[in-house]
Amino acid sequence: MALMTGEQYVESIRKIKMEVYMFGKKVENPVDDPILRPSLNSVKMTYDLAQMPEYQDLMTAVSPYTGKRVNRFTHIHQSTEDLMNKVKMQRLCGQKTAACFQRCVGMDAFNAEFSTTYEIDKKYGTKYHENFKNFMTYCQENDLTVDGAMTDTKGDRSLAPHAQADPDLFLHVVERRPDGVVVRGAKAHQTGILNSHEVIVMPTISMGPDDKDYAISFAVPLDTKGLFMIVGRQSCDTRKREGSEMDVGNSTFGGVEALTVFDNVFVPNDRIFLNGETEFAGMLVERFAGYHRQSYGGCKVGVGDVLIGAAAVAADYNGAAKASHVKDKLIEMTHLNETLFCCGIACSAMGTPTESGNYIIDLLLANVCKQNVTRFPYEIVRLAEDIAGGLMVTAPSEADFRDPKLGPVIDKYLRGVASVSTENRLRILRLIENLSLGTAAVGYRTESMHGAGSPQAQRIMIARQGNLAHKKELAKAIAHIKE
Ligand code: SF4
Ligand code: FE
Repeated sequence: MALMTGEQYVESIRKIKMEVYMFGKKVENPVDDPILRPSLNSVKMTYDLAQMPEYQDLMTAVSPYTGKRVNRFTHIHQSTEDLMNKVKMQRLCGQKTAACFQRCVGMDAFNAEFSTTYEIDKKYGTKYHENFKNFMTYCQENDLTVDGAMTDTKGDRSLAPHAQADPDLFLHVVERRPDGVVVRGAKAHQTGILNSHEVIVMPTISMGPDDKDYAISFAVPLDTKGLFMIVGRQSCDTRKREGSEMDVGNSTFGGVEALTVFDNVFVPNDRIFLNGETEFAGMLVERFAGYHRQSYGGCKVGVGDVLIGAAAVAADYNGAAKASHVKDKLIEMTHLNETLFCCGIACSAMGTPTESGNYIIDLLLANVCKQNVTRFPYEIVRLAEDIAGGLMVTAPSEADFRDPKLGPVIDKYLRGVASVSTENRLRILRLIENLSLGTAAVGYRTESMHGAGSPQAQRIMIARQGNLAHKKELAKAIAHIKE
C-alpha cells in the first residue's frame, strides 16, 4: 500500500475497535466525538501534507528497507540531513495545526528501537532487531501511526519498579508462555494513542537486575484485548461540545492524551523487542528521550509561530502595532522561538551514526534544546498575553455575540480599529486563549515542561554529557597549572 490520504487514515482508525473512556462513559465512536475529533485532525494533517508535492521532500523519504517512499513519521534516519528534515517537518506540522500532531512519538520510538535492538542482539544473540525491522517495515508499507508509550505511572519515586507496594505501577511481565508474554501495567499521558494503529511500549527508566520483568518492550495493535484508554481532561475541553467554533479558538485541531491500561495483555514473541536484558532499558530510554527532546525544537516552534502571529494580529486589531514596546515584544518572542529552532537543528546537524547505521542526535544538545523548551514557551505566552490584553479572558461567548439584543452591543463596544470586525478581533483573542490557557495549552505549555521528560531529567543528562573534566583541563592548560 502506498501513502494513505488523510481520509483513508481517518477511515482506517474508524475500523479499529478500541476501548476508550471519557467522562465516565465508553466512547462508542471516538473518530466523530466532538472533543476527540480535533486531535484526529491533527494527525490527519501528517497524511494530508505528505500528499502535497511542495512538501514531499520534508514529509516523505525513501525507505532503504522497503525501497519505497514512506511518510517521514515512519522513517529511520539515514543522515544528519534526515534529522534536520525531521525538525523542519515538525515545525511545518505545528504551523498547520497549532497543536500537538502526536505522530512523532512513534517516529522517535522507531529510531530508538532500531539501534537499541541491534546492540542487544549483538550482545545476547537475540532476534529483537529482526522482530523490530519486520514490525517497522509493516508500518512503513501500510503508512501507520504508531504511539510510543514510555511513561509508567511510577508510584513512589524513591523506589525501584520491583520494590513498589503495587507491582503494577510499572508495566511488567506477569506470565511467560512459549508463544509470548502477558503484561500488566499502565502508561500515563499517552499522546495520540487513540489516533494510532499500533503502540510501541518501552520501559521508563534505567533498571537493575531485580527489575528483569519490567525490562520489556513490544508493539501491539490498538484493538488488542485487555488494552483500554481513559482520556485526560483538558482545560476548556467541553467548549468543543457546545457547538461554538469561535469560543474554542482552534476548533479544527487539537491534541489528546490518555491513561493507557494494559490489563493482562498478551504479546506474541515476534512483537517483543526487549525482554529481561535490564542493562539496555536505560539505553532505550536515553535514546527515545533524546529524539523526543530534539522533536520539541520543531513542533513547539511551529506552534510558537502561530502564537507570535496571533499576538501580532491582535496588536493590529487594537491599533497598537506601531507602539515600540509591542514591536519589541514581538521581536523577543521571535528571538526565543528561533533559539528553540536553533537547538533542534543543531542537535540534528551534530548527529552521528549508531552501530546499527541509523542516525542519532547529539544527546547533549538535544537535552539543552528541551531544557530551553521548558522555559521559553512560557515567556512567549506571557508576552502574547501582554499584547492581547485582558479581553482574551473576559470576552462574552459567541452565543451572546449572535444574540439579536446583545450582539450589536458587543459589536459596538468591543471593537478596536474601526475597519476590523469585532468578530475577527474576538476570534484572534480566542486563539491566544486556546494556546495559552485552553485545550492547546496542554501541548504548548505543560507539555513543554513535562513532555519528553521533566526539566530535571534533562539536567541529569546535561551533567552526564557536559564533560566537565575536559573543561577543567582546558582551564588548567590556559592558566599553566601543572598538578
Ligand atoms: Fe510531536 Fe511535539 Fe506532540 Fe511530541 S509534543 S508528539 S514532538 S507534536
Ligand atoms: Fe510530547
